Amino acid sequence: MLNPYEIRRDFPILRRKIGGNQLIYFDNAASSQKPIQVLEAVKSFYETSYANVHRGVHTLSQEASELYEEAHREVAEFINAEGIEEIIFVRGTTEAINLVAYTFGLKELTSRDEVVVTLMDHHSNIVPWEILSRIKGFRLRYVGLTEEGLLNYQALSETLTPKTRLVCIPHVSNVTGIINDVRKIARMAHEHEALIFVDGAQSVPHMPVDVKALDVDFLAFSGHKMLAPTGIGVLYCKRRLLEEMAPFHGGGSMIKQVTYDKESERCIIEWSGLPWKFEAGTPNIGGGIGLMKAVEYLRKIGMENVERHEKELTRYALERLGELEKVQVIGSQDISIKSGIIPFLVEKFDSHDIALFLDNFGIMVRSGFHCAQPLHQQLGIRHTVRASFYIYNTQEEIDKFVQTLGQL
Ligand code: PMP
Repeated sequence: MLNPYEIRRDFPILRRKIGGNQLIYFDNAASSQKPIQVLEAVKSFYETSYANVHRGVHTLSQEASELYEEAHREVAEFINAEGIEEIIFVRGTTEAINLVAYTFGLKELTSRDEVVVTLMDHHSNIVPWEILSRIKGFRLRYVGLTEEGLLNYQALSETLTPKTRLVCIPHVSNVTGIINDVRKIARMAHEHEALIFVDGAQSVPHMPVDVKALDVDFLAFSGHKMLAPTGIGVLYCKRRLLEEMAPFHGGGSMIKQVTYDKESERCIIEWSGLPWKFEAGTPNIGGGIGLMKAVEYLRKIGMENVERHEKELTRYALERLGELEKVQVIGSQDISIKSGIIPFLVEKFDSHDIALFLDNFGIMVRSGFHCAQPLHQQLGIRHTVRASFYIYNTQEEIDKFVQTLGQL
């Protein structure tokens, strides 16, 4: 079992007081706090082993390169990928989605094709596909939600056709916390010979995710939501696809050889091996090392324990919020298909006013439309307040949150 009180000792920020109140951080779906183990690893790297990777033959460059590769290995094991060839470090989920759009999408998709997206998606899994569909002329097909905010599987199955090339879904909604049945959707996509792209920004930090068991083709996630620094994230992709895909950014490190050919007056380029073909230029080495430590930290706790703890907090919070008549929890409250995210509204109050009110008591929650306006439209609301939990949150904090909300 996970002991949040023990874990809290590793997070210096949680000792902070805001306006005289003990900080309660319930904005984890936006970004998580960082444990001392991650902070120290990044600091120690810059203090003792810093140099650029993949270039020098000197000791520091060798050490930095080894650490950076080890970080890829740690992440590969964490999601059960085949190896580091399938793990591309990027800035975050947004960049991973754009990478797939502008490599796989730009090369492979034509005006005869269809790409499926959902109205449950974060803007970052909608906007790149909208932009690309205008360039390439393929049809984007949106799958809607049920009244409870669940993905409409029937509609999804009716949307898949022989023209479908790619199905893009969120593993977990960043607004409702609803968990989609990725295994089932992957099977549906593959039956139509389409690929599946999974936005794992809200799943990988919070539950066991096994790319082989789920049989996903692409998976994207962000380090900053799982204890790591900002500016580092991951694109997982099946090796056979990466081998076929053109690179994203051109530059140093992603090439094996560039030779000027006098006859054609052009440079002949040979790409680096995987995953480096997709990591042009000097990468976020410190961020990668921070991500490695964050993954080590989560693996030590065990992702089953992380998931169980968050479900228990969510069950408790839903029960306690049920005591407040003015509070309306949005979407399904079935915790068997829900992660640690609770969207809600309070009668007569704007979401930002609620968040500001809670802030006066040191409680940090998110308000607005959370980069998911089509989802809010589907639910018939403009915005919500979102409380989201992580490994260091406690029932006591939920009690304080509910008691404070009750004063509104
Ligand atoms: N997808 C989902 C489901 C998210 O919650 C987020 C972050 N709010 C993103 C994508 C974008 O992640 P990032 O800003 O780290 O690129």
